[in-house]
Amino acid sequence: MQAPLERNPAGPARHALRVRGTVQGVGFRPMVYRVARAARLGGFVRNDAEGVVIEIEGDARAVASFPDALRREAPPLARIDAIEIEERAVCGEVEFRIAASVSVATATRAIIPADTAICEACLRELFDPEDRRFRHPFVTCTDCGPRYTIVRDVPYDRSRTTMASFAMCPECRTEYEDPADRRFHAEPIACHACGPRVALVVRGECVGEGEEAIARASALLAGGAVLAVKGLGGYQLAVDARDDGAVGLLRERKRRPHKPFALMVRDVDTAEAIARLSEPAREALASPARPIVLLPARSGGGVAWSVAPGLSELGIMLPTTPLHHLLLERAPAVLVMTSGNVADEPIAKDDDDALQRLEPIADAFLVHERAIHTRADDSVVRIVAGAAQPVRRGRGLAPDPVRLDVASEPILAVGADLKNAVCVTREDEAFLSQHIGDLGSLDARSFFEEVAARLGRLLGVEPQVVAHDLHPEYASTRWALASGLRTIAVQHHHAHVAACLAEHGRRGPAVGVAFDGTGCGPSGDLWGGEILVFDLLGFVRAGHLRPIALPGGEAAIREPWRLAVAALADAGAPIEHPASAPILRLLERGIATPRATGAGRWFDAVSAILGVRDRITYEAQAAIELEALAATSDEDTPYPFVVEDGDPFELDLRPVVREVAAGVGRGEPRGTIAARFHATMAEIVLASCRAARARYGIDLVALSGGCFQSVRLTEGAKARLEADGFEVLVHRRVPPNDGGIAFGQAAIAAHRLEKEG
Ligand code: ZN
Ligand code: ZN
Ligand code: FE
Repeated sequence: MQAPLERNPAGPARHALRVRGTVQGVGFRPMVYRVARAARLGGFVRNDAEGVVIEIEGDARAVASFPDALRREAPPLARIDAIEIEERAVCGEVEFRIAASVSVATATRAIIPADTAICEACLRELFDPEDRRFRHPFVTCTDCGPRYTIVRDVPYDRSRTTMASFAMCPECRTEYEDPADRRFHAEPIACHACGPRVALVVRGECVGEGEEAIARASALLAGGAVLAVKGLGGYQLAVDARDDGAVGLLRERKRRPHKPFALMVRDVDTAEAIARLSEPAREALASPARPIVLLPARSGGGVAWSVAPGLSELGIMLPTTPLHHLLLERAPAVLVMTSGNVADEPIAKDDDDALQRLEPIADAFLVHERAIHTRADDSVVRIVAGAAQPVRRGRGLAPDPVRLDVASEPILAVGADLKNAVCVTREDEAFLSQHIGDLGSLDARSFFEEVAARLGRLLGVEPQVVAHDLHPEYASTRWALASGLRTIAVQHHHAHVAACLAEHGRRGPAVGVAFDGTGCGPSGDLWGGEILVFDLLGFVRAGHLRPIALPGGEAAIREPWRLAVAALADAGAPIEHPASAPILRLLERGIATPRATGAGRWFDAVSAILGVRDRITYEAQAAIELEALAATSDEDTPYPFVVEDGDPFELDLRPVVREVAAGVGRGEPRGTIAARFHATMAEIVLASCRAARARYGIDLVALSGGCFQSVRLTEGAKARLEADGFEVLVHRRVPPNDGGIAFGQAAIAAHRLEKEG
């Protein structure tokens, strides 16, 4: 209407502001209220379908500087993407209020925030004897606490969370209803008077409550016992990580011989004492998601060898919840903190289930009354090329959306069978679920169905399109085909590289390097070391690694020594393995010996040739231990290999295998050979991308697939490519392993639907 700002700088003005970004469920409105009141402005703030709408009226200068104040005062979990401003007619409003949400719209576009570790303000209160929440294990506010794991339904408010059964005391209610309070509409709000209680259970008996429970739990840990702790997204199992006997006991009871255990440490200084922390590592450790961060271990840190046998990395996290802070205060400063399950089952979340399933493992249970509605394992990230990259998305990271560059009807993408996660789209946003696990067990499959249904319900969408892997034997594929809904099949390695491209908001075309385990190609052949020229609709196979024989099929994946024999025989190198004769017969006759281009299999083979690992007890163990061995050497000279011209071209690794075998024969240090092999694979990535560029003229590269969890391979390949003029995309939002497949499937399906129109 008018332009009061220009005409009369001191006179009144009224502006309408639309704020876009992550501004709901993160304490944004109370902040706006406080800022407006402090500036003596009238008007209102309201949530609606697209974010937050604010109208402010008052002194023109205060009105003009309001957007800056919003950016300055934004709560830690908020992210302002844009503020659009329009002038309005002054109407004399002097009071500021929080107006009711436009409810129908918010329900359909509602976002359930991820769980968040305790914030600084709540942490201060936790240890402040003057505070009424001093040592309260459930202190929380709008900036922190449980969210996704306690929500039963939308819209997100207390009555639809597992806190519904706790009636707020008058003091909590006052805070909850006061727009100026940090706990205004903090749905899980609680205190000593009205909140859940903690207890310690031993052999089905409660042996202590509250402070006493925590104190006794700490003492048990110090004495070498295995403690089950009810965390945010499920039960965890803890032991003193400096006590080799206790760690060994846990391994035996959990039936997990080698797979590394994560650690929870008292504070950053303790982390520093056992691992080397880069700046991005510090940031990741302290981020609101509080993930497990994989870090280079320091020797002499005192952590038991059995925590991460054969590895040079430790997975470390800081305390997540107030209960963890209270426990770590007196317990040993470095605890193993691993998922509460047996072998690869889903993590236990319900008290009865946990007490029953974990009884053979845990000596005592630190439990509490707040129910976990949906399980979420701890998230895992590692630092690659200067920033965090997810390895497993769980508590704290799921279900944060990733924006796609097309909007489509809702899609459910069901992922792959290992490291399964599902993805649901709403308009142009893709919501990747928490880690579900390996769909081999009945429990995991029912968890899969539960998450798929729940994610759609929370988002208010009912997908009519299901995207799935090409692999006909995957449980996820069979589920998709039996759903009765329209299906879109996506090739596995296309999904990998598409995930990497799409999370960066790019469309391609690009060169995709998918270095992976073994996945299904378009005609049922086994792929896994692929150079694809692709966009989000389709791909051509520009090149691939030389296939390697898998003597005994699946058995060759569990027993890499079989691959070593196959690789050596293929390369014409001498074979010294004592059990090689039957394998050679299989190879000669071609019985039970499929061939696969999987890059991971070449890592396995070299690992076994070096004698690192003949048999594995967890996925990718041979390759992970090979990288640990490589970490002992700075050698970066690649071995020779051949790019065999053709369409597709083939990367011949036989010269590499001959050199590796010769090095072993000459007694060269194994670390040197392992390091040179990693350099070779990075060089192979460069040579492949050059060959693809020469032919297709594309210099954008996406690196994906399980092998790119290797920091050494990823950083080596990225540096070489960038030095040669390529633009290189690596994963930052979703994992390079199969945990990112569902997101890639969703991105491709969305683009295919868009093309149909
Ligand atoms: Zn807080
Ligand atoms: Zn209370
Ligand atoms: Fe894969």
